[in-house]
Amino acid sequence: MANVAFIGLGNMGGPMAANLVKAGHKVTAFDLVAASRDQARSDGAALAESGAAAVKGADVVITMLPAGKHVLGVWNEVIPAMAKGTLIIDCSTIDVESAKQAHALAAKSGMLSVDAPVSGGTGGAKGATLTFMCGGEDKAFAAAKPVLENMGKKIVHCGGAGAGQAAKICNNMILGISMIAVGEAFALAEKLGLSHQALFDVASTSSGQCWSLTTYCPVPGPVPTSPANNGYKPGFASNLMVKDLTLAQDAAKAAGAATPLGKHAQEIYQAFDAAGHGGVDFSGIIQHVRSLAGK
Ligand code: NAD
Repeated sequence: MANVAFIGLGNMGGPMAANLVKAGHKVTAFDLVAASRDQARSDGAALAESGAAAVKGADVVITMLPAGKHVLGVWNEVIPAMAKGTLIIDCSTIDVESAKQAHALAAKSGMLSVDAPVSGGTGGAKGATLTFMCGGEDKAFAAAKPVLENMGKKIVHCGGAGAGQAAKICNNMILGISMIAVGEAFALAEKLGLSHQALFDVASTSSGQCWSLTTYCPVPGPVPTSPANNGYKPGFASNLMVKDLTLAQDAAKAAGAATPLGKHAQEIYQAFDAAGHGGVDFSGIIQHVRSLAGK
């Protein structure tokens, strides 16, 4: 079992750190927010006074923070306090450029590093069923995998530095676009007098089949576990979809890729967010689509 330092104990990091404790690791935790630290203590973690204090004597350091600037800030603070050869893993969803800079910082000081953003949301964080998309050298990934397995059920090595973040934003761009497509199809079906169930029965077994339809259907009824049956409570909030689509647009611009539908999807979720629905599950975008009728 390892000495693990865990920095960033929010909605995702808190339960992830708790699962490492459950798996038998000695976890030393830090967050800026006192309530998150208290929760980590009651979950069985030791508390540190700062990020730099948390990493003293750690074999593995994990960060789970809001955005690239927080990750670079914390990595700049903690790397000088880590023993050479320590493994540092960032599980946050951040821009590819910052992820690459973080890897470079770690390499300069002789550390092993992995970017390992997740999918699966807070339910996956609690249930230790997350998917980790990893970027980094083979040796770093091999060291990270057994630790990540205590917090997730699928651990994928996507390539070198930043490849985990690249996989995450490409996947979520598909998701954001496909949810709008499914919402538009149901909104059109309603106008044409076609029932939700009839469209579902056809499209879910035809060429329109996709995860947004069959697992996360944006109308109540056909898929009882989807947020549409629960007042569109997240799940995955629309403001997080805006964040991921914005990261995808930033990456597309920097890399010179054309992503016209990704751009349009970003604008559509931004409008939904600006209308005060950022906390609504992203499948609630169907409501926004319906509201555009006749405009
Ligand atoms: P959150 O805001 O609940 O948690 C972030 C935590 O980081 C907060 O507790 C904050 O106090 C702490 N923090 C910020 N700066 C810090 C610093 N310098 N030192 C120590 N702690 C610091 O966010 P979350 O929902 O846990 O998400 C974390 C990351 O995971 C984000 O990048 C998010 O995009 C990604 N993510 C979230 C979900 C989800 O469903 N919530 C799903 C997949 C990925």
